[in-house]
Amino acid sequence: MQRNLEDGVVQKNREFAAPERRWAWVEIDREAIRYNLKRFRKHLGPDVKIMAVVKADGYGHGAAECARTALATGASMLGVSSVDEGIELRRVGIAAPVVILAEPPQEAIPLILQYQLIPAVYNMDFALALGETADAMGRVSPYHLKVDTGMNRVGVHYSDAGDFLRTINFHRGLELQGVFTHFATADDVDTFIFKQQMGRFEEALSTIRYMGVDPGIIHAANTAAMIRYKQAHYHMVRVGIGMYGLHPSEVTRPIMELRPAMSVRARISYLKSVPVGEGVSYSHTYRSPGSVLIATLPIGYGDGISRVLSNRMDVLVGGKRYPQVGNICMDMLMFEVNQRASALNPRPAIEMGDEVVLVGRSGNEQITLDEMARIVGTINYELACRFGLRLDRVFVE
Ligand SMILES: *Cc1c(COP(=O)(O)O)cnc(C)c1O
Repeated sequence: MQRNLEDGVVQKNREFAAPERRWAWVEIDREAIRYNLKRFRKHLGPDVKIMAVVKADGYGHGAAECARTALATGASMLGVSSVDEGIELRRVGIAAPVVILAEPPQEAIPLILQYQLIPAVYNMDFALALGETADAMGRVSPYHLKVDTGMNRVGVHYSDAGDFLRTINFHRGLELQGVFTHFATADDVDTFIFKQQMGRFEEALSTIRYMGVDPGIIHAANTAAMIRYKQAHYHMVRVGIGMYGLHPSEVTRPIMELRPAMSVRARISYLKSVPVGEGVSYSHTYRSPGSVLIATLPIGYGDGISRVLSNRMDVLVGGKRYPQVGNICMDMLMFEVNQRASALNPRPAIEMGDEVVLVGRSGNEQITLDEMARIVGTINYELACRFGLRLDRVFVE
């Protein structure tokens, strides 16, 4: 793999590329994102559109870069969760339709229009304010109606969708471009709630059509529903986690092979032997058993390596696992290199500056975000987002 340090690096407004400046970074394999999207393309009917969901900085993978890759690989729309995320895409020159999946505050309406973003709509006041503002500018604002079918988070209740549209559909500043819902349990073993939500969504769609209103682009499926349920594909699917090569749950894993795009890497910044009985790191939760080298990596919980993982995770060097030891610090963590050589285990040759994989593949070994998430007690979604917060990113083709 060729590392593209010149143009491929998202520098977060900093001057130099990550590995030269700091020995800890996230690597994004663009080919993996392309592979996953092509896999979805094969799975979907030829007329089903793909919305690439790039909220939360592309689940920590870099929104703009992932959006570009997705658009070049068959996605036709982008999904974000805030006005700022939409503006960020426009500022880097992305012109594709961008849907804000949650309704922003009314104060943001001028920005929505200025940057030609498409909001989800579910509050009457917001819808009317959007229509008035657009109309005053001589414009028509597209919007997607969000229907709540059982997630019970945001959206117009499915039994009120008809009445809602009856009130705003006349507005000459508004254009209904799509109708959508979101599943609460598409990745659960149990399918009852999913089916109930499908039934309710169909009910809302029938009401809308019966009124003579064209619902436009109908969409419902997140990654899990896209993988499991063809009946939920409609005109478009909204894929987030799967595009990045991660499975929403163990239920979808056997159905489709995906390639994780994110790996987390660091280089050994210090290497020393610690005498038997000496403690390592805050609170000395680990003591040297002797005959070990302690290697330090310049990456810590400030970068997304949860402190909960202290003494419970491994790292990979040259295709082998090594146990992380001692409490994980904000900016550093340590791991143990056992120096007791045996016939089966020759003494590992580990040196300052060696590349270490915290998430990803090294030789035949692999540490997945899922493995890490299980130990932390969360889901891969959350860990991926966190790794996007401070670490710089390197994109590899
Ligand atoms: C985040 C989000 C998605 C994407 O979900 P994944 O499980 O990551 O595929 C789809 N739709 C909505 C409304 C979302 O908020």
